Amino acid sequence: MKEIKGIRITTNASLKNLNTYKIESSAKYLIHVETLDGLINILKYLKENKIKYFILGAGSNIVIDNFFDGAVIKLDGLKKISVNKNIVTAEAGAMMASLSSASINHNLTGLEWAINIPGTVGGSIVGNAGAYNKEIFDDLVSIKVLDESLNIKELKKDEVKHSYRHTDLKEKPWIVLEATFKLENGNKEESLKLIMDRKERRLATQPLDMPSAGSVFRNPENDHAGRLIEECGLKGKKIGGAMVSLKHANFIVNTGNATSNDVKNLIKLVHDQVKEKFGVDLVLEQEIIDWK
Ligand SMILES: Cc1cc2nc3c(=O)[nH]c(=O)nc-3n(C[C@H](O)[C@H](O)[C@H](O)COP(=O)(O)OP(=O)(O)OC[C@H]3O[C@@H](n4cnc5c(N)ncnc54)[C@H](O)[C@@H]3O)c2cc1C
Repeated sequence: MKEIKGIRITTNASLKNLNTYKIESSAKYLIHVETLDGLINILKYLKENKIKYFILGAGSNIVIDNFFDGAVIKLDGLKKISVNKNIVTAEAGAMMASLSSASINHNLTGLEWAINIPGTVGGSIVGNAGAYNKEIFDDLVSIKVLDESLNIKELKKDEVKHSYRHTDLKEKPWIVLEATFKLENGNKEESLKLIMDRKERRLATQPLDMPSAGSVFRNPENDHAGRLIEECGLKGKKIGGAMVSLKHANFIVNTGNATSNDVKNLIKLVHDQVKEKFGVDLVLEQEIIDWK
């Protein structure tokens, strides 16, 4: 592939450490983006040469496929966060925990929940990530995206259709570049206390010591996916290296060498058994990637 400034390319790269399930997978090209110009130039090159590409955040909400005969692009060099009074702007490759910490360190409140999200700002905008009755769109003012013609567009929050763990960006070929938030003045000590309480609760209830991609299914209205799965007797159910967590039934964990198919088959089994027993059609929160 041609030399382009502002990117780093690896060929035949393993993606095992780039998805939180730690599923073995590889891509023909892995591209680390260091500058916006680098991103635009590599996209031009990929489009001209009809090479498929996929934008990967922290890989914490996906069931990755085995092999991608194209380019996986990581925006990990685009991670600047700036704070001006109560306006916080973060580039898409910044981690949610860094965004949360930067806000708290400036005595701003609203993004404490984001400290526990092991994803990027870009991936979290696309999926409208959230926790504790908050979601990323709550404090959002606007985003910048790169559209299919490689033009940068600014979209106000209301120009993006968003609902619980969903946005219409999922259906668009756009790349999120940046997000701007307006936060309230807060108190660092109070924010840190809130974070510590929640951290303890997460450690007690979630299998954070094993590779996973967080909640598998969305909670149905007025119920919990975990309760339905547990009542089907599925805690500990295994397919290959994938297992329904013993700690939290709405988590699937990798016990060692889970393949993409192990996780997908276990998701299907859980879905079908809950449907059969309760008539509830659980909706996936994670995204199954199909690169064929
Ligand atoms: C232990 C654990 C706990 C979790 N807890 C929560 C929780 O409380 N709440 C919650 O909402 N989620 C939670 N998650 C899930 C996950 O962290 C979030 O959904 C996160 O927002 C995903 O971001 P990501 O960068 O990992 O996206 P990825 O998984 O890498 O990508 C998700 C999708 O976004 C696309 N994408 C990524 N970046 C961009 C971009 N810049 N432009 C366009 N498209 C892009 C990808 O192509 C893909 O389609 C948890 C996960 C784990 C492992």
